[in-house]
Amino acid sequence: MNILVLGGGGREHALAWAIKQNPKCDRLIVAPGNAGIAQIAECADIDPSDAAAVLEICEANAVDFVVIGPEAPLAAGVADALRAQNILTFGPSAEAAKLEASKAFTKEICDACAAPTAAYARFTEADAAKDYVRAQGAPIVVKADGLAAGKGVIVAMTLDEALEGIEEIFGGAFGAAGAEVVIEEFMEGEEASLFVLCDGTDILAVGGAQDHKRVGEGDTGPNTGGMGAYSPAPVLSAEIEAKALEEIVRPTVAEMAKRGTPFQGVLYAGLMIKDGQPRLVEYNVRFGDPECQVLMLRLGAQALDLLLACAEGHLGEVQAQWAPDHAMTVVMAAKGYPGAYEKGSAIRGLDALPDDSAHMVFHAGTSSKDGQIVATGGRVLNITARGATLQEARDRAYAMVDAIDWPEGFCRRDIGWRAL
Ligand code: ATP
Repeated sequence: MNILVLGGGGREHALAWAIKQNPKCDRLIVAPGNAGIAQIAECADIDPSDAAAVLEICEANAVDFVVIGPEAPLAAGVADALRAQNILTFGPSAEAAKLEASKAFTKEICDACAAPTAAYARFTEADAAKDYVRAQGAPIVVKADGLAAGKGVIVAMTLDEALEGIEEIFGGAFGAAGAEVVIEEFMEGEEASLFVLCDGTDILAVGGAQDHKRVGEGDTGPNTGGMGAYSPAPVLSAEIEAKALEEIVRPTVAEMAKRGTPFQGVLYAGLMIKDGQPRLVEYNVRFGDPECQVLMLRLGAQALDLLLACAEGHLGEVQAQWAPDHAMTVVMAAKGYPGAYEKGSAIRGLDALPDDSAHMVFHAGTSSKDGQIVATGGRVLNITARGATLQEARDRAYAMVDAIDWPEGFCRRDIGWRAL
């Protein structure tokens, strides 16, 4: 079959890598892709949120199946546009994508299906929100309702921080995403992510992971898109995973179906775990980046069969086969990231790295210029390895990092420290 993957980051390189290995895949197109993806697939330089452009590619290339990587095309309704043309698609409708696009909507769903999550209140007006946080006290969490690229959440340890956060959001810092504010109880515990395929009715867990959001070692400094991840997550025991599926994910999927907006795609549940009890922090409606890189390395070619079963609506008939191993990805970013950084520096040494089922370099912000790979984004490479233990996966990943010649790049040296 001819397959189109939408997106151009490390997540999409990992998806493309896994899909490509499955004999069901004849042609693989990725839009827009990047320099690493171009080595294994055809790249089409379009905006993946532009439904008309996506449909044109499908028609011109007789595409049988579309896998949507990032949230923007989902929120823009690209999955709806594809399904309207009877094109098999992995990814939720715009209505179901509200589980990520609106925090207030997710809270409403949790209420309706009694899924454990933080207590909360919703406000469309600053004074009432401020009165509420004064009454509740700190620590407390203030969130812009809509998509704000991870920046619309203020975990306020003091009352002043919470009040400032409310002013900032209602002051327009996040545009329309801040028209409503959700204020939540501060939850303590350890965070982990659980990835669950949903075909509208059935669900299938495809692994857990933990990531490192902060730029600095010891999880310090500003937030980023993610500096590394590993799978499995030790905190997500079989027992806790089963609880999260039965108490949180399954009821959510049932509630969405009941409302006539079934969820089809991957539900990424951000969990807070304390005393053996998982509670929902947030939903995302796509794979995490960089978590997808470790999941795909562990799943390999079968990933395509699972994504197809999900899109075709027979998830109940398939199972994921897991090797009992560990995977880790270390993100290499351009110096300065997540602040200002230079573009265009050359990356050398990639060709000499091992390239097998235990070692992979997934590209994010790269392009190719005069036969060289150059950095064109903040997060640039995902150095990914697997091993019998997390320590072995980590040693392999950092050995690759050390063999890469890119003076303008950096990475954290402590990915996985909590688990190790
Ligand atoms: P992203 O998608 O980048 O993770 P987001 O903008 O969708 O971020 P959330 O995931 O809701 O926002 O929150 C970001 C982070 O803030 C969480 O990963 C968690 O560490 C912290 N956080 C959010 N809500 C709470 C809460 N109620 N209690 C404690 N910490 C929280």
